[in-house]
Amino acid sequence: MIYMNGEETDRSAEVKAFLIAEGGVDIDERVLGRITTPASGPGAGLKSFFLRFNGHRVRLGIKHGSRLKASLEGDHVVIRDQDKEIVRGYLEDAIAHCPAQAYITVSEVCIYDCQYCPVPILGGSVKSQSDVEMAISRILADPNLAGKLKAIALTSGVETSAQHEVERIAAIVHALREKYDLPIGVAVYPTPDSTKLLKAAGADEIKYNVETMDRQLFETMCPGLSLDFVLGALKDAVAVFGRNKVFSNILVGLGEDDFSIISGMEELIKMGVIPILRAVVEHPLRAETRMRRPNAERLLRLARKERELLDEHGLRADIAKTMCASCTGCDLIPHRDV
Ligand code: SF4
Repeated sequence: MIYMNGEETDRSAEVKAFLIAEGGVDIDERVLGRITTPASGPGAGLKSFFLRFNGHRVRLGIKHGSRLKASLEGDHVVIRDQDKEIVRGYLEDAIAHCPAQAYITVSEVCIYDCQYCPVPILGGSVKSQSDVEMAISRILADPNLAGKLKAIALTSGVETSAQHEVERIAAIVHALREKYDLPIGVAVYPTPDSTKLLKAAGADEIKYNVETMDRQLFETMCPGLSLDFVLGALKDAVAVFGRNKVFSNILVGLGEDDFSIISGMEELIKMGVIPILRAVVEHPLRAETRMRRPNAERLLRLARKERELLDEHGLRADIAKTMCASCTGCDLIPHRDV
């Protein structure tokens, strides 16, 4: 049930956009169950939890001092903005990183230095194949989690080289495929044969992130990486994995304009790729990078445009089985949220 200005309303996509734009809520962590701390991507290292409301899921950061105050009232989490209730939902436990999936970051390190990403600075651990296998076995051995696990997803920074990383991930996917009848998604930086290797290993869905479709911005933000190479890899991936099974994040808030996002989405969608529009996180470890989290209105406008483009080209974002299009926690996903 959603409340805006104290009145019941069905404007739940607007509420989700507002919550994503705010990025987090002030809440006493002790009332929460399983807090998750992402090990990859722009929000790496920041604590968060999942809220389910009116058919939507949102991942909310724990942001002390936020204008949004959340509290537990019976079974519900209630979020208020200056004392006005704006949403009432319930907590969802993450299995590993997010609900319903074991989404594992294999290498929490990176030799690249994308200017919005805290991973190279955080420098986390590197998991071996047996670490990943043990993590999945532990989930399946837990009676509270086993029935809830619907998919496995792997992502990774680049420990020594993109090729080495892809070969390591492909070996892990192969081992998991032999053991488990669950959909497997993989998000990595591509190499010339990553699509072939990951498909042969048994991956079902794949994500290669473009991050931004503004070429000038890409060069500044992602030194040493190539947007053209990622685009070529995405095209090949659609030929191998099929339409609706290839994804790519576009960050919103790096300094790009809407034209670059909309024309970029169109380019990807025409290839058969589903874009994931991801609001930047103004991470304290990247304070020198000029990023601006988009407001709710911009997020909604772009997500609705994406829905229009996907419909026009016959793609569906709601049939994804793994990773972010299936989770929906961080983004407005067409056909699910808008
Ligand atoms: S949407 Fe993606 S990044 Fe966000 S919590 Fe879900 S799986 Fe993780």
